Amino acid sequence: MLSTPPTRVAIIGAGLSGLTLAIALHRQGIACTIYELRQPSVSSSGALILSPNALRILDTLGLYSRLSPQGYSFETIAYKNHEEATTDRYYLGDEKTYGYKALRVYRQILLTELRAMAKQLQIPITYGVKFSHVVSEDDKGVSFAFVDGTVSSADILIGADGIHSTVRKYVAPGVFPKYSGQVAITCAIPLSKLEFPDGVEYDLPVGIHGKNGAFVMAPQNTDGSEVLAGTQRAYPEQDRAGWDALLANKDGLLALFQTGMEDWPQLVKSALNNVPVDTLAIWPYYVVPKLERWFSPANRVIILGDAAHAIPPTAGQGASQGFEDVFTLAALLPSLSQKMPLGKAVTYWNNMRQKRVDKVIELTLQLNNTRLPQAEREKLEAGQTWVSGESGELGWLYNANVEEDVLAWIKTETKVARTCPVDWLATKLQGK
Ligand SMILES: Cc1cc2nc3c(=O)[nH]c(=O)nc-3n(C[C@H](O)[C@H](O)[C@H](O)COP(=O)(O)OP(=O)(O)OC[C@H]3O[C@@H](n4cnc5c(N)ncnc54)[C@H](O)[C@@H]3O)c2cc1C
Repeated sequence: MLSTPPTRVAIIGAGLSGLTLAIALHRQGIACTIYELRQPSVSSSGALILSPNALRILDTLGLYSRLSPQGYSFETIAYKNHEEATTDRYYLGDEKTYGYKALRVYRQILLTELRAMAKQLQIPITYGVKFSHVVSEDDKGVSFAFVDGTVSSADILIGADGIHSTVRKYVAPGVFPKYSGQVAITCAIPLSKLEFPDGVEYDLPVGIHGKNGAFVMAPQNTDGSEVLAGTQRAYPEQDRAGWDALLANKDGLLALFQTGMEDWPQLVKSALNNVPVDTLAIWPYYVVPKLERWFSPANRVIILGDAAHAIPPTAGQGASQGFEDVFTLAALLPSLSQKMPLGKAVTYWNNMRQKRVDKVIELTLQLNNTRLPQAEREKLEAGQTWVSGESGELGWLYNANVEEDVLAWIKTETKVARTCPVDWLATKLQGK
């Protein structure tokens, strides 16, 4: 049973959760090594929305000031009906109430900045290695293997290896991602190609909720001149080759995107008539079923981020919940002691994280329901779809100080008060 802070942490996956975890652990004085399958030269496409709960964490880690000039800041997404009247505004950020506007930023920019900081902090990352399996786990540590046959060891092994996680096979054998039946089809379109109707107020981002469901348009570069346009459709599940074939068949994809075009207002028609075909993309929505727990029987193998709880995208909280996982786990590990053994610490962490993820999933379902085709929406009862209420109603999500919650719990359990380093980054990066 580990009852001192770990000195060797191994992380599988240098995606958003893995890199952020390494930086958060470094802030807590805990050394780690990351192992990543892909080479850093492989680029990632698309953009993400980051809401205040994610931005507060990135700010503490010194990343917000690097990211915000490279993204598009905004506060709400307007919901419009088929007649293009605004019916609601959903807050994805709000500087006054939640401390930050929402930020839409390309995934590649986020990865580049996380990698740059990891490099500045001299965090070792081994690229081009594929984790295979856990060899053994006992009182002394965990030993694990890569597909090339090499074996390594650590005090704790953390799987931040995404929705199709291999580490999860050890923590939760027999659990596989489940297809939701829906696929998002998107493209990136110049703002100049969109035909806005005269006399109708149109701030972007916007979701037009019509007969076919919702059509979303969201700016994704700094000056808002490039807009993500997309909708979701019911589509039968495919195997990996089937999804690849659908993506490669641009004509077929365009036809699917344009299905029911006559039912949309002119603005959406203008998007669908001007699709830059090479930017067409699909995103089949898979979810990870609720796991019994996110750690192994001997507690030394832990999963987080999409590996533990990939959730549908509608609340824009997928990556954000991963940031919360890593930030809280990093706050907990320096407190390991006889009074706070690893098993007790990870049980608390898993419970507090699962509760929050459950609430985010509930919110996501409500938001998803507002995007259903009109006929399906009309069958739902009040409360099953999202309707905005009082200002600040999303404070539970955006204003939570998850690190403070962890430190308060540690104090109650151990009677030891700990604070987290305030000027850590300035000291670390001095002269670099
Ligand atoms: C199109 C799209 C749009 C999205 N939009 C949003 C949004 O607006 N807001 C939001 O919050 N979230 C959004 N998400 C969700 C968000 O991208 C994920 O929640 C987030 O990327 C999860 O991060 P992760 O680090 O846990 O997993 P990943 O980003 O999947 O990273 C996992 C890493 O592990 C590596 N890996 C996998 N297997 C192995 C192995 N065996 N050995 C070694 N390395 C391995 C992978 O190569 C990868 O680098 C979106 C997702 C998609 C697909």
